Order: sequence, then structure tokens, then C-alpha cells
Amino acid sequence: MDELYRLTAHEARDLLRKGEISATELTQAVLDRIHAVEDKVKAYITLTPEIALAQAAEADKAFVQARKEGRAHTLPDLLGIPLAVKDVISTAGIRTTCASRILENYIPPYDATAVQRLRAQGAVILGKTNTDEFAMGWSTENSAFGPSHNPWDLTRVPGGSSGGNAAALAADETIIAIGSDTGGSVRQPAGFCNLVALRPTYGRVSRFGLVAFASSLDQIGPMTKDVTDAALVYEAIAGHDPRDSTSVDRPVGEVRRALGQEVRGLRVGVPREYFGEGIDPRVADVVRQALRVLEDLGARLEEISLPLTRHSIPVYYIIAPAEASANLARYDGVRYGYRAEAATLWEQYKRTRGRGFGPEVKRRIILGTYALSAGYYDAYYLRAQKVRTLIRQEYETAFRRVDVIAGPVAPVVPWPIGWAMENPVQVYLTDLLTISQAIAGVPALAVPAGFSDGLPVGLQLVGRPFDEETLFRLAYAYEQATQWGKKRPVIE
Ligand code: GLN
Repeated sequence: MDELYRLTAHEARDLLRKGEISATELTQAVLDRIHAVEDKVKAYITLTPEIALAQAAEADKAFVQARKEGRAHTLPDLLGIPLAVKDVISTAGIRTTCASRILENYIPPYDATAVQRLRAQGAVILGKTNTDEFAMGWSTENSAFGPSHNPWDLTRVPGGSSGGNAAALAADETIIAIGSDTGGSVRQPAGFCNLVALRPTYGRVSRFGLVAFASSLDQIGPMTKDVTDAALVYEAIAGHDPRDSTSVDRPVGEVRRALGQEVRGLRVGVPREYFGEGIDPRVADVVRQALRVLEDLGARLEEISLPLTRHSIPVYYIIAPAEASANLARYDGVRYGYRAEAATLWEQYKRTRGRGFGPEVKRRIILGTYALSAGYYDAYYLRAQKVRTLIRQEYETAFRRVDVIAGPVAPVVPWPIGWAMENPVQVYLTDLLTISQAIAGVPALAVPAGFSDGLPVGLQLVGRPFDEETLFRLAYAYEQATQWGKKRPVIE
């Protein structure tokens, strides 16, 4: 069988269990694919082929043994499946840079809980993927290692901040991936690259080992080539972890059971604001067609209004930088990471941070420090927290009427590399549709919805807290009816 790198995780799992392919063959096929296209795509910061092949060999031993004993079907779903990890998620023994000079040579002594759980299943770590520095951005253009390229059009961005994952998945340089989402960072790149991604309910997935950006917003989520794979990865990483005090002790269940279930009668809210001002009409057209498909499947569409959506950007850009300014205080050149030598301690801090952080990170530290400072705290931070409560209430009210809220993932299509640098204000506005869910803590899923002039457009489904299951149910039905995700780019 050729082109093994094109398989989804569940397809590969079935072949691995039957012994039709080996984990080593699969891993080698993906490594060869990386070798062939990575020069153009630039998805990875660090590659770990030796670790991957060693883990694949371990997986193969387990498959051989289990098949002998007739219990291959009981092995973990992700055993032997190649995995890419966003470079803000800690991996024991593997460099974790956050795409920053300040952590360029940092090797964590422990795994993030999400990574540990995937390793426990036997997933094969291929390497660490590119991101905007400390996950602050939209396109990977803020990476100290240079941007990744969108496999659908190499002159354009793959989105961000988990753009390396999206580029790797779309170019078939991995089978599955995990990223982080503070205000859209798994969903927006998935939308830009014709992929599936889930931002879980806040508290569903442990943040232990995720390098903190904005702790009240950060969540780890799956990025995959189809809905089934997203469900498998989500089941693997979700669940209570005593090492993260915000992780919720509540059963996750087998969301995969929702796949294939009836969606007739599901009430889907369509916010007016998601199709109005600031939304590229080409994007709105594609997503309106997607909504018609949901209707054909038996979902009941209802127009709703979420008027606070437009306030989510200013709220987020106070809260997230405020939390970031506190979280990033630890990079002082004393305990770990980059250190610039200097005559005095003060001078050392200044040089270390001055040289170690890129411009966007500095901008946010300054903004956040300002918003938290005495005299401004009430006017900015406290006020933003109050509006945050209103945004959460607005979702609560909406979810009394509807089961799911649907709209575009991003208001725009992937932009040409360089555009963000020339349009520093506009680029913040592209967060319009992915930030309020993070502020409210509700789950949201991105699924391929088709193309506009050859560029992918994503459909976003937003759910009640802890109701990821309904999102998977509806996304799967939509995916089966349309099959947009099956389309793959040709990399010139
Ligand atoms: N684009 C948003 C930001 O720049 C969200 C990024 C994220 O989710 N990590 O902060």
C-alpha cells in the first residue's frame, strides 16, 4: 500500500490491528513525506525521527503480541499513530521552544499531561510544530523561526497560532496533532487548512505542562483530518488531572458513540452578528451553504442575536495580555531559558527579556502590565472581567433556546504571508468569531465547509459547556454529507 501518510488515525488503526501495515512502515512513510515537502511547508521547529521510530518499533511489538493472542482489537486507538505536538506543550527530553528565542534551547524535564496520555496510548511523536511566539498571533508570522506555509497556497499563511500543526496535517506530514487554543488557535488554523479541530470546554483537558499564555483561557485541543480522529484524540486527552486545579472532575464518556447518531430536530442558532459587518461575503456564502446542509439533515435553524460578540475583542485583549504579563514574568534568565550576561541583575533582566522576546510578545507584556497597574486596574481589567460575565450570560441565554450555535470559524480567508505585518490593527479583528467562546469557556469545533477561490473555509459549531458530544454528532453528520475534508492540496 502506498501513500500511507494520507491515512487518518482510525483508518491506520484498523490496518495496524489486522497486521496489514506496521507502525514502523506508517511512521517511515510520514517521515519520508516530511522529507519530501517540509522545505516548502516549514511546519516543524524540531523533528524527532529517532524517537518516532523507536516508539513505532515498541508499538509493533505490542501489535504482534496482541494479534498472536487474538486481542488486537482491545489495543489503544492511537497505538503506533504519528503525532505532532505544538511547541508550547511540554515534552520530556524534547526541546520546547514556544517559537521564542528565550526558550530556544529549553528541554522540559516532564511531559504535559496531554502528551503523557497520548504516549501512554502508544502514539508516536514526530516532533514539535511551529506556532506564533508563545501562541500570540494568528498566522505563525510571529514565530522566531519564521512562518509556516499554507499547503493550499504556499504564499499564504496556514493560520495560527497552531499553524505548524495545520500545515503539517494538510500536507500529510503527520496523522494527528494537538495544539492550544486561547482565543481560536486550534480552530482558526483548522479552518484555514480544511481540517477539524476542537476547543474543549474550559477545564476538560489538563493544562499541566502547557506553557501558560492566558491561564483562564488556555485549553489544549485536537487537530485532525476528520471528525472521528478528533473524537479519538479528545477522548485520549480529556479528563480530570489533579495536577491542574482548573481541570474538572466530570466523566468524559465515549464521545465516539455520538458519531453517526441522528441530528434531526437539533436546534441550531445562527447569530446575525456572525454574518454581518466585518465578515468577508465570500466566507459568509460558503457557510450559508453549509447551514443549508444542516437543515437538509433535519436540524432546525433559528436566527439568534449575540450582540456582545463585538465587545469580545477588547475584553480579550485586556484579559489575555494581563494574564500573559504575569505568566511571562518567569522568563528572567535566572532559572532556565536564554540568559544575557550583564554586570548587574537588573541589566541582566533587561537584556535577557529585551533580546529573548519578539515584538508581539513585548507589546502584550506592556499592554497587560499597564492594564493591571494601580489606577488603571478598575478601568480596564476589572471592567473587562465584568463584560466577560455578560458574554458568558449571553451564551447561557442563547443555549436555553438552541442546542448548538453555528457560523464561520474566521471572518476571512487565509491571507498572504506578510499582510499581518502591514495591517497590525486589522489582524486583531480577525479574532472576532473565535474569542467569545474562549471568554465564556464553552466548547467549539471547526469542520471543513468548502472553498472560496481554492482557499478553505471552516464551519464553527459552538456548544453548551461539557456538551462536546453534540458538537461531534452534528459535525460528523455534516462531514459525512459533504466530505469536504477528503480534499487534499497538491503541493507544487
Ligand atoms: N489570535 C489570538 C491571539 O493572538 C488567539 C491566539 C490563541 O488562541 N493562542 O491571542
